[in-house]
Amino acid sequence: MDALYLVNARIIDGSGSDPVQAGWIRVEGRRITGMGGSPVRTGRNQVIDVGGRTVLPGLIDAHTHLAATEMLNLVDTVSRPVLAAKTFANMRQTLAAGFTTVRDAGFTDYGFKQAVERGLVPGPRMFLATGPLSQTGGHSDFRPAEVQDRQRRSDGLYHPGVVVDGVPQCQWGAREVLRRGADQIKIMAGGGCTSPTDHVTHTQFTAEEIAAIVHEARARRTHVMAHAYTPESILTCVAAGVRSIEHANLVDEEAAEAMAVAGTFAVPTIATFDLLVRDGREHGLTEDSAAQAALVLERAYEALRILRDKGVRIGSGSDVLGAHQPFKALELQLKASVLGPMDALVAATRTNAELLGLDDLGTLAPGKIADLVVVDGDPLDDISILQDSGRIHLVVKDGQVAVDRAGLSSVASQRVRRLTPETEESCHDHRGVAHDDDGSAEKQRGASVRIPLPRLDDQDAAQRARR
Ligand SMILES: [Zn+2]
Repeated sequence: MDALYLVNARIIDGSGSDPVQAGWIRVEGRRITGMGGSPVRTGRNQVIDVGGRTVLPGLIDAHTHLAATEMLNLVDTVSRPVLAAKTFANMRQTLAAGFTTVRDAGFTDYGFKQAVERGLVPGPRMFLATGPLSQTGGHSDFRPAEVQDRQRRSDGLYHPGVVVDGVPQCQWGAREVLRRGADQIKIMAGGGCTSPTDHVTHTQFTAEEIAAIVHEARARRTHVMAHAYTPESILTCVAAGVRSIEHANLVDEEAAEAMAVAGTFAVPTIATFDLLVRDGREHGLTEDSAAQAALVLERAYEALRILRDKGVRIGSGSDVLGAHQPFKALELQLKASVLGPMDALVAATRTNAELLGLDDLGTLAPGKIADLVVVDGDPLDDISILQDSGRIHLVVKDGQVAVDRAGLSSVASQRVRRLTPETEESCHDHRGVAHDDDGSAEKQRGASVRIPLPRLDDQDAAQRARR
């Protein structure tokens, strides 16, 4: 099997260690099989000279809503084919932005994940919650006050919230979403900004209801992620064995302490509030929702400080909705304003992988799955570069080049084609990287050209298409 070498790279491995300068990474099949900081003999393998750019682990967004291509109150105003098309575009854009893995916190149907796994469309590795569980009048009960019908059916693209009350219904709801392909269970343990009949300061579900749902998740060897802002909601979730508290904007020291002691993860999602407050109204957010978003944004940074100071494990999610979908990497910049750029990167790589129980992802080391992002520039100097999709030059997922904006892998294959025994002396590049002959001259050179998936990109592309 031919190996793929990335050489001349500033490597930030996701563990929090200092970057390695002029480093190299060897990928064989879907795994990293070597890494180092000194010149390496690359043999006749495929070599990508990343030209001093930065290599990061594939980013993980632990709180997405890939199928929420509109503000949640407007999802039913678009046709289902349009919703599907926008969801596929969103998946492609997410991968192209360097997010090779997401934990989806609700609404996205299992079929979207299946389409990626079957190689039909590009997209990140997806861990889905499908329909979030909500009590009547809770944060995933999107019926306006004047509507009575209890449950909206899933249409096979978008899973609305599953409204359940009392322990037996919570058990049913948990089993039902797991049957429908959920990888983890999302619960609404308190009020939220966008739902029509509750408020961010409300608590939702009882301790018994949450414990029943946690029991079902554990029986299926998975976990519960809980939307919760208030200390009361957080304390109830921690006691019930919830794995991660989503948002946590109103956390206090006592609740943070309880999280730290229990080992509960926090997944702060500041980006979505920042964006909703900035221009949510223009995108159809109601006035009341915008006011609640402002209320929780006001406490978001203080909450992050409290969580950090108490030693809570801090993961990272963007929670972006509708037109804000392309801004997932904004979360890292906002987190970095409190944690610093390195810890913001660690949250979105190593800690998110730990949260998802993915031992093989989140850091770069021999034996790990080769999910890599090549960024033009140094995110430790300026983490906002991760938001510029034009600077995400290469994305490797599962050892395969999935996105190649700068043509790095085609340059590599041309060079590999030149690597015949006669020209071997010319194979020392100016960076001191030696390409030796591994003795298998009969192997087809240049045969491992990986075809980049269609580019998608960003809003610019979307806007051009609209014109
Ligand atoms: Zn969410």
